[in-house]
Amino acid sequence: MSAAPIASFAQRLLTWFDQHGRHDLPWQHPRSAYRVWISEVMLQQTQVKTVIPYFEKFVARFPDVTTLANAALDDVLLHWAGLGYYARARNLHRAARQMLAQHGGDLPQDFKALLQLPGIGRSTSGAILAQAHGARHAILDGNVKRVLARHAAIGEWPGHPRASLQLWEISERLLPSQRLADYTQAIMDLGASVCTRHKPACARCPVSADCQAHIAQRVAEYPALKPKRDRPLKQASALLIENAAGEILLERRPPVGIWGGLWCPPLIEENGDAATVLRERYGLQLASQQALPTLRHAFTHFELQLQPLRIRLAGAIDTVREASNQRWVKLNDTPPALPTPIAKLFQQLKTSIHQPCLEPFTA
Ligand code: SF4
Repeated sequence: MSAAPIASFAQRLLTWFDQHGRHDLPWQHPRSAYRVWISEVMLQQTQVKTVIPYFEKFVARFPDVTTLANAALDDVLLHWAGLGYYARARNLHRAARQMLAQHGGDLPQDFKALLQLPGIGRSTSGAILAQAHGARHAILDGNVKRVLARHAAIGEWPGHPRASLQLWEISERLLPSQRLADYTQAIMDLGASVCTRHKPACARCPVSADCQAHIAQRVAEYPALKPKRDRPLKQASALLIENAAGEILLERRPPVGIWGGLWCPPLIEENGDAATVLRERYGLQLASQQALPTLRHAFTHFELQLQPLRIRLAGAIDTVREASNQRWVKLNDTPPALPTPIAKLFQQLKTSIHQPCLEPFTA
């Protein structure tokens, strides 16, 4: 590609952005490094329209690095509940603490220093510096990968290291020398609203004149799909243990692993059985169990089939006391941070579990 069309790629994109781009996103007003960071992390696996209300609530509660660093992780997770990919929230919290300890409670303005923080990769770091400080850094999020893979007709799956290297090189080469914040927003907007995954609107695309996929009329072939690999199905059971006060037992998940740091009914993974777990973990005796409809939840690397079991116990349950990682909660109270499938299950239980199909537990 010669120098002239490269310059014009940015120019055309910026002209299009002035007319058609998004200028009223909440993290653009004001556009501070902190707000851009939060929005970029939320947008990593989630669409803009879903992110907006979460972003507004999050920055209202945690308006700056210091407030976020000083907050309890539980509180941060509670404000994240429903967005999924909870490692992002845990990393935000850890990164804020690191910023407070090492950078005086501000985001560093240095690319390499940003990369040292949990959850901030090359694209997020570039997006923060370009959008908050107008620095000349490229980004390569999902939308940008798609635009560039089509524009340059990259035949390999963008996740492959070879293709990724090529895409980064193109993304850097196309950068303008001015208006970096607008350009970064513009290329993300183009991917989100014109060069969409399905049915891209090439007829109104500002860079169609030299888009290789469009010229070859092979847009549907780009970006190349990830080579197929079946996601394994894992099984787990959720034990719904209710006490005499009608409260359900929740436990905080370990910090690492699925739903790390969130609250769940006790989970039994794979082949464990309820009677053994109740006896060995809690000193409780199972009287009977009732299987409720199963739930499915897709994680990046596997699918989870969750079997909720309503547990009826024989004998007293005062061996389970509240501890820092165990809590009895009423379904009608505001729950702590729950994973989405568990929140849905609680919603269903609210309408069913208190109907008299289970007799009260023996106290
Ligand atoms: Fe995407 Fe079509 Fe524009 Fe090419 S011409 S960048 S395929 S919208």
